[in-house]
Amino acid sequence: MDPTTADPRFEDGAQFIAGRLTEGTGDRPFDVVNPADGSTVRQVRLASTRDVDEAVAAARAAFPDWSRATPGARAEALTRLAAVLADRSDDLARTETAQTGKPIKLSTEFDVPGTVDNTGFFAGAARNLEGKAAGEYSGDHTSYVRREAIGVVGSIAPWNYPLQMAAWKILPAVAAGNTVVLKPAELTPLTALMFAQACTEAGLPDGVVNVVTGDGRTAGEHLVSHPDVAMVSFTGSTAVGRRVAELATRTVKRTHLELGGKAPFLVLDDADLEAAVHGAVAASLINTGQDCTAATRAYVQRPLYDAFVEGVAELYGRVRLGDPMNPHTDLGPLVSFAQRDRVAAFVERARGYGAVIAAGGEAPAKGHDGTDLTLGAYYRPTLVTGVPQDAEIVQSEVFGPVLAVLPFDSDDEGLRLANDTPYGLAASVWTRDVHRSLRATREIAAGCVWVNDHIPIISEMPHGGYKASGYGKDMSQYSLDEYTQVKHVMYDTTAAARKDWHRTVFGDR
Ligand code: NAD
Repeated sequence: MDPTTADPRFEDGAQFIAGRLTEGTGDRPFDVVNPADGSTVRQVRLASTRDVDEAVAAARAAFPDWSRATPGARAEALTRLAAVLADRSDDLARTETAQTGKPIKLSTEFDVPGTVDNTGFFAGAARNLEGKAAGEYSGDHTSYVRREAIGVVGSIAPWNYPLQMAAWKILPAVAAGNTVVLKPAELTPLTALMFAQACTEAGLPDGVVNVVTGDGRTAGEHLVSHPDVAMVSFTGSTAVGRRVAELATRTVKRTHLELGGKAPFLVLDDADLEAAVHGAVAASLINTGQDCTAATRAYVQRPLYDAFVEGVAELYGRVRLGDPMNPHTDLGPLVSFAQRDRVAAFVERARGYGAVIAAGGEAPAKGHDGTDLTLGAYYRPTLVTGVPQDAEIVQSEVFGPVLAVLPFDSDDEGLRLANDTPYGLAASVWTRDVHRSLRATREIAAGCVWVNDHIPIISEMPHGGYKASGYGKDMSQYSLDEYTQVKHVMYDTTAAARKDWHRTVFGDR
């Protein structure tokens, strides 16, 4: 039984404002669809601009008390939140899988525990926010630095990891004393709403965390442009990120942009081939390839190229597609039929310009468990070879289970190709030589470079892009810098009525 339809918790609506679920006042209902079979998980009414206004007003009203709460009080609430989320793990995992189609083993072993761990991390981090100790820098003054919350943060999240993205947006913001209005992707709002409900149950005051379920053009743009929103934190595509930055600039808001990626996977000729092949399969197919850090372009030094292509193609053929609720399923559908068609169109265009499809390249019919996959948004793991560096499939974000492989000769060439897209979110290098790996980690322009692995993230370490992948960091202590502003406070220590520097304006020494 589907947990979301069985449970009446969304009966009251899909807007979470001032601690309560309410119905949106947008003019149309919207179906949250299970992409595994096209069934409706929940029909919601989307937010109008009025709902956004209410949510911002609730967040604004909650700000003075929350920003003045002691770090200890904020930490305590977040510690309770981690416990509430942990208690609800199964329900969160099943709902996440129902609305996204991701395999239940991924929701259970990655999305939900990652979110609980992140919550625990920010509970601790809330107590480690510091200003700078006081000091006498001018001789006539004592200075110190206050680190202060910014105000109402408007956050916009994508559909690929709805629960984790809600957590990454909300946790550092509220740990630092801000209040939040989060707009999840309209395709996948349910676990963000559950996260917000859990916040209230954990004792975060009403209005500290609000969720508006609406589309980008209406709710998203209104939130970003709202005069009472002090900062915008956006995760999504680079194209929409540009639009968000433009709108935010008009009201001089601080922005934090986590955008698209096109991660290179660089295999040098001394690499452990088995590790590289297995790493490429896992890193390209995680979350059905809908991961901003997924391996999308493998560059393999000539001596290993043929064996790498053969190895990945062979393993791709063994990946089990099926019902995402089945714990043995490796690969579920894409998030929507539109996304599946978009991915298929990239592959068809690649065929058109001469690509060799070494595996996949089609929608499957039957799952490993007998599931009729033609009802869902499925696409086979697809390996693309024989394309040049400037091909669309090498340069553009496909966001699906598709890996392009290209050969290279020298290390110089491999590093140049790895850097040759507009993106710079993540990358990996595969080698047993410490000097070659050190050079690659230094020269690859990306916010994260893995050596002999690709994908793992950890709450203590920052995640964020270079180049067109955006700026600002999620997770880690660094993310608290995004959500705080520093104030210089300066005290006169001379008690003199006529200060020495006044002469530069009037009078002489
Ligand atoms: P998207 O850019 O289409 O949408 C993201 C969010 O923006 C959604 O909530 C959407 O409703 C909203 N939106 C759309 N138009 C808007 C507008 N005009 N104004 C304000 N908001 C608007 O992205 P998506 O398809 O949901 O997600 C996939 C993208 O997200 C990929 O490009 C992926 O790389 C990126 N992503 C990046 C990271 C990261 O950390 N860098 C993490 C996850 C996903």
